Amino acid sequence: MANIVAIVGRPNVGKSTLYNRLTESRKAIVDDFSGVTRDRHYGQAEWIGKKFTVIDTGGFVQGSDDVFEAAIRDQVLIAIEEASAVLFVVDVTTGITDLDDEIANLLRRSKKPVFVVANKVDSAKQTHDSAEFYSLGLGEIYNISSMTGSGTGELLDDVVANF
Ligand code: GDP
Ligand code: MG
Repeated sequence: MANIVAIVGRPNVGKSTLYNRLTESRKAIVDDFSGVTRDRHYGQAEWIGKKFTVIDTGGFVQGSDDVFEAAIRDQVLIAIEEASAVLFVVDVTTGITDLDDEIANLLRRSKKPVFVVANKVDSAKQTHDSAEFYSLGLGEIYNISSMTGSGTGELLDDVVANF
């Protein structure tokens, strides 16, 4: 069985930036418009000699809040179904939002490993800001900066541990 890592989270938390860093691909277009990446993107990644597929679940439809939330819900449910591990990306600069809580509610039912990734921890002094994410009830928090790559090694060590 191929190992698949799905990146989920609400728009603008840095999913595509993380995807690009993991896959070193330019297929997921990161641009200034949050949530405009419509399709799911699949790319190949490798860490300590272990190969895996990464899915960027940026594909959110536009429309009413209900449609929007339903689309995120679908992405999360597909990820739980299809992935070997799920990276739940949250944003340390905004903290927990209602959508984060809703996604966490879905993920807590997952039998697959879920890694809570506090992104945008660009400097050491922001590390303590991510403590609030423990209240999502999904265990350990991995502080990373997708922009600089800081923390991604520790995250990947644990993600691939069971591959
Ligand atoms: P997505 O909607 O979840 O796919 O988020 P994107 O990857 O498109 O990123 C949304 C915005 O956050 C972009 O302006 C990124 O440059 C920015 N961003 C992503 N990762 C980081 C990070 O680690 N630190 C900072 N400061 N900004 C980031
Ligand atoms: Mg995106």
